[in-house]
Amino acid sequence: MDFHTSEHIPGVAAQFDPKAFAKTVKDAHISSVTVFARCHHGWLYYQSAQFPELVHPNLQNRNLLVEQVKALHEAGVRAPVYITVQWDYHTATTKPEWLIRKLDGSHEGGPFTEPGFYQSLCVNTGYFDFLKAHTREVCELLGKDLDGIFFDIVGIRPCWCASCRAGMKQQGINAASEEEVRAFAKTVLTRFKRNMTELVREYSKNCTIFYNAGHIGPCTRDSAGAYTHFELESLPSGSWGYQHFPVTARYARKLGLDSMGMTGKFHTEWGDFHSLKNKAALEFECFRMLSYGFACSIGDQLEPRGVLNPATYRLIGSVYGPIEEREPWARPSAPVVEAALLTSEPSTAESRMPEDVMGGAQILEELAIQFDILDETMDLEPYKLVLIPENFRPSGGFREKLERFAAKGGAVIACGKALLSSGNTLPSCFGAEYLGDNELFPDFLIAEGELAKDLEEGNEYVIYKQGVRIKADNEKTILWARSPYFARKGGMFCSHRYTPSAGGTPYPGAVKNGKVLYFSHPLFTQYRHNAPRWCKTLISNAIDLLLPKRLVRHNGPSTLAVSLLEQSEKQRYTAHFLSYIPVRKSASIDIIEERTVLRDITVELNLPKAVRKAILVPEGKELPLKAGSVTIPVIDGYAILELLY
Ligand SMILES: [Zn+2]
Repeated sequence: MDFHTSEHIPGVAAQFDPKAFAKTVKDAHISSVTVFARCHHGWLYYQSAQFPELVHPNLQNRNLLVEQVKALHEAGVRAPVYITVQWDYHTATTKPEWLIRKLDGSHEGGPFTEPGFYQSLCVNTGYFDFLKAHTREVCELLGKDLDGIFFDIVGIRPCWCASCRAGMKQQGINAASEEEVRAFAKTVLTRFKRNMTELVREYSKNCTIFYNAGHIGPCTRDSAGAYTHFELESLPSGSWGYQHFPVTARYARKLGLDSMGMTGKFHTEWGDFHSLKNKAALEFECFRMLSYGFACSIGDQLEPRGVLNPATYRLIGSVYGPIEEREPWARPSAPVVEAALLTSEPSTAESRMPEDVMGGAQILEELAIQFDILDETMDLEPYKLVLIPENFRPSGGFREKLERFAAKGGAVIACGKALLSSGNTLPSCFGAEYLGDNELFPDFLIAEGELAKDLEEGNEYVIYKQGVRIKADNEKTILWARSPYFARKGGMFCSHRYTPSAGGTPYPGAVKNGKVLYFSHPLFTQYRHNAPRWCKTLISNAIDLLLPKRLVRHNGPSTLAVSLLEQSEKQRYTAHFLSYIPVRKSASIDIIEERTVLRDITVELNLPKAVRKAILVPEGKELPLKAGSVTIPVIDGYAILELLY
């Protein structure tokens, strides 16, 4: 619950009523509220002995934080504490020596004459000492009532402040190299998290600790030991969009900590006080978290007077009621997966979601393939199928791991320049030799043979993105391609877009070497760019060749999301079905306004353990199970099947 409150607003928390506050929360089926110690404006919401000048100047209830925590505890609700880290406007304006500096010496964010508190601070300065003293004060203030700390805005940000420049000089780091500076910034941040966790542990052995950077990914792995859990900030109606959550979630669940998703009650995102998200959208966002086995978090902002907006909590309660009822079929649980998608996301930045991974994840979601997202360090052995997107070029050791995986009969699908070495070679298991980038593009895949199922036989399908030219044995070539008459370049062009096929001699477009299927085109990036259905069909057909028995198939639309979980102590799987369709109704965000009701969806299951009974829950309605297939009469937004074994 945000509480970034300007000092120009009077009567802050003047109408705060602890009992009414806790009752509103409790009635909305909320089990935990993150309350504020210090906000992005830089103000404190408790009676500080050490920093009295930082207490919000208009805070009427000087004991707000403690009263919030006590009231929530009386209602049986947890109350971890929010502390801002890199954004603090008051400190940024008064302590310029603590600001993160860009290469040219300017600070992050906008000018101080413009609204906004985005002038980030560097934790490699005296600011860290302040943060430690402030955090100690909060820990001491709450004592045994400390449930946890949520440190916000803790991101890897390259910094050229005096302190960082001195540190880099000492370590022989080239401050002119953005990459080296970024790597240094990561070590600074990792040290910050470890030190801060040690500090908090002096006061509480078991409180929760989380560092928020707006994204969990390979950037989080090295410091995961400093966290007790993950909160996956992903507000689909904000800058994250609806496609961010599945990608971050499928990776985060590989890091070994419990996770919760985090959306917002806002029509858009943080700070959108007087807006309510459409109920169906909030349902989808929370039910989707639950379908991954995650807990749910909904962001709100407390209004300055300290009173929760009743409409907001009626909305939250209308979603959290059903969540509470369904939670036993999702938590705790383990995902049931068959495939792994490798990510090329860098380990030194939070915000880069590679286009090929986004496209690949979207295809697999639409096909109801059950998959995790892995980085290069993770184990391939638990998976039957590994998919390698075109921009995946790990630092080393992975190629050998993949060759071993393929040699043992593991199935692999790879695209374009995936794993292309600096010496321009592809892994030997691909069964193809790289001849160079294909300068004659867009070129055209010919729909013939085993990969052409559900495509127009013999049709030439364009792939707009540039692929590679490969050499492969004829008998291993499973798909062929043709060139255009010429590439569209300079004065050579034909019509509006690209030059059509010259109908010439075909060359290899895909190679099948044992259980490794390699496409010479960047099909995942292509799907991310404009989602040609033939790209998805080709991947689906490739999966069918390598993995004939999928865990789940259904006859529903491509918008139906399916997630399989296992709860072994209850001897059951649970299958979660979601039918909500984000629509681009506006120029800026996708909107979900209603559930999309589906009827008579037949689901074919091939689970590791034989299922003896299928029950729709929480309704408790048993459905007939015929040869591993079950038909769900109605999916009204969300349905869960309990599958007992
Ligand atoms: Zn710095």
